[in-house]
Formats: sequence, C-alpha cells, structure tokens
Amino acid sequence: MIQANPQSQSCSKCRGCQYLLTNVKGLLFGEHCSCFSCDVCGGRGQIFEEDASGVSTLKECSCAVLTQRLAKLNAAGIPGKFAGTQFETFNPVGDSQKQAKSRARDFVRDFGKTGQGLMFMGRPGLGKTHLAISVIKALILEWGADCKFIDFFQLLSDIRYGYSQDLSEQAIIHPYVQAQVLVIDELAKGRNTEWELTMLDQIISSRYNAADKITLVTTNYMDVPTEPERQTNDSKFADTQSSAYRKNAVGEETLQDKVGERIFSRLVEMCQIVKLQGQDYRQEVLAQYPIAPKSRKR
Ligand SMILES: [Zn+2]
Ligand SMILES: [Zn+2]
Repeated sequence: MIQANPQSQSCSKCRGCQYLLTNVKGLLFGEHCSCFSCDVCGGRGQIFEEDASGVSTLKECSCAVLTQRLAKLNAAGIPGKFAGTQFETFNPVGDSQKQAKSRARDFVRDFGKTGQGLMFMGRPGLGKTHLAISVIKALILEWGADCKFIDFFQLLSDIRYGYSQDLSEQAIIHPYVQAQVLVIDELAKGRNTEWELTMLDQIISSRYNAADKITLVTTNYMDVPTEPERQTNDSKFADTQSSAYRKNAVGEETLQDKVGERIFSRLVEMCQIVKLQGQDYRQEVLAQYPIAPKSRKR
C-alpha cells in the first residue's frame, strides 16, 4: 500500500488516499490529489542515491508507485461513470450479495495465489459490474496489476468500426488478449451470432492457453436454468409473476446456450463462479408502485 503523508490524512478531498478519480470524456481518470507530496523527493518522483564509492545515480523514488498505478488505471478503459464505484459503495442486500462481495474482496487480497478469475452471474441490477469494477480498481491501485475492462457490446462495435478503418480484428482484440487481468462485462448479451462468438472465442481461447492471464466476467445468464426467483403470495408482486414477465425474465437460457459448449467450458475452468441472487431493483420499483410490467428486451 502507498503510505499517506500526515497532510493527506486530513485531506477532505481524497480522505488520505492522495489521488482523485473523476469522469473525463466518458472514461475514468485518476490523478494526484493536490495534497500529494513526498518528503523524500519533493514530489519529483526521482532521487539521487550515492553508492559506497561516492557516485550519485538518479533513482526512482518510492512515491513513483502511485504515479505508475494511476497511469495503469487511466489505461484500463474503465468507463467514467464508475469513478465512484468501489467495495465501500457496494451495499449488499441479502446473503448472496454479501457472499459475492466478500469473495470479490478475498480475490483481491489473494491475488496471484490462483490462476482463476471470477465469473459474476445473475440478473441485471444485482451489482455484478459494481463488484467487477471494484476488483480491478483495487488490483491496479493495491497490486499494480495491468488490467483492462471491456463491455462485450462495445468490443464488437469497436471491431466493426476497425473493419471500416482497414484494421483487422486482431489489432482491436490484441490489448484484451494481452492484458494480465481482463474484465469482460455483459458477456453473452445480444444476439451472439456466429461472427460474434468467433470473436469471443479468439479472446477466450488465447487467454485460456496463456497460463498467466486472469479473466473476470459478468453475465446475466446462469450456468443452469433458473426459474424467476420471487415466488410470493403477496398480491403486490402479482404483476411481476405474470406470464409476460416470466417469458422475458433472464434465466431461462443458460450461458452455455448463449455462447456454446466450447467457450462455456473454458470459462468455467478459467473462473470461479460467483452467483448473485435476489431482487432486481427494477422489481423493487414494481413492488413499490404496482403497475403492469413492461416487456424487457434483450
Ligand atoms: Zn488529498
Ligand atoms: Zn518521492
């Protein structure tokens, strides 16, 4: 961890961490807080060190670690809307969210001890992306890991755009294949055409074959078929149990149905599954204001 100086500890802007995270043009941007200072190098990041024979050489100061980690954070491709997303702002409701948070925290603490990543599974609105973002931010800031974040949909559209610029898909996916830690958000969302699955397979297979790559995934699809979770006699929830709702509820198709057996079996080997269950916040709204549910499109 990076040592805070006494001035930073009382800083109301950064609360002692010496950096600030903001949304700049849609991307997460981290920079030193104005309280950042170093008594050793005066904030320059370099110091002269004299060896036994009296020869001075320029060396990196230990405070340069924060500068390097902020640069890694800014290169990770994390959307700016997640500037404030961290473990501390994840408020679990119910046991599965509590367990998911604690497993995500343990994963950060034990980073490097296992070659597996995490696969957060569950309906929309349960905090899968929140936890995945919290994990990579912590891996970068606490461990200095090289991480990349990509929304699966965004990746496909980047590849399509690349074609129009005469860029091969290899050129687009290379950074995601190479990253030490990759988060693929919203995996399997969309139509999953043969072409889309070929692109996904290229990333997953390359990472699967490289022993030192860690992959984290969030997906709305489960490994086994599930029924809508809320079975209640409470009439307030009657609308959410309508056949229209059931038909559109995510969970009938499994992840394997969506991505095929090859990709699915590799993902299961590469990642520990973390399931989030419970009430979608959209259902929460329905429960408070009982109105006819709208069909969800995917
Ligand atoms: Zn500060
Ligand atoms: Zn320094």
